[in-house]
Amino acid sequence: MERIKCVRCPLGCMLKVKVTKDGIEVEGNRCPRGEEFALQEIENPMRILTTSVRVSGGVLPLVSVKTSGAVPRDKIKELMDHIKSLEVEAPVKIGDVIEKNVLNLGVDLVATRDCDEK
Ligand code: SF4
Repeated sequence: MERIKCVRCPLGCMLKVKVTKDGIEVEGNRCPRGEEFALQEIENPMRILTTSVRVSGGVLPLVSVKTSGAVPRDKIKELMDHIKSLEVEAPVKIGDVIEKNVLNLGVDLVATRDCDEK
């Protein structure tokens, strides 16, 4: 029996998940999305990554970014290493795509705040 917190909505149900030969058994979910979440967590956990990227010529040294969708949790380290190598030119606006289809993961890296030029 594994305990997993469902993050599909703010209620954050604490799920009890048991893997059986026929699939999984889930308790503690207040809606069917909890069972879908538990199955994905067992088979291929996904996360939206939030971090920051270096900025050149900006009033700030970094700008916050996030992936436009969830990426496999086992790709997070590779993605962070790649993001550390990036640098964008100011100005940056909220919603700017910093990199399309980052690492061919099917999601974009998107700015989540503005950064004006110096
Ligand atoms: S199981 Fe349903 S109600 Fe509970 S946190 Fe997940 S999405 Fe929200």
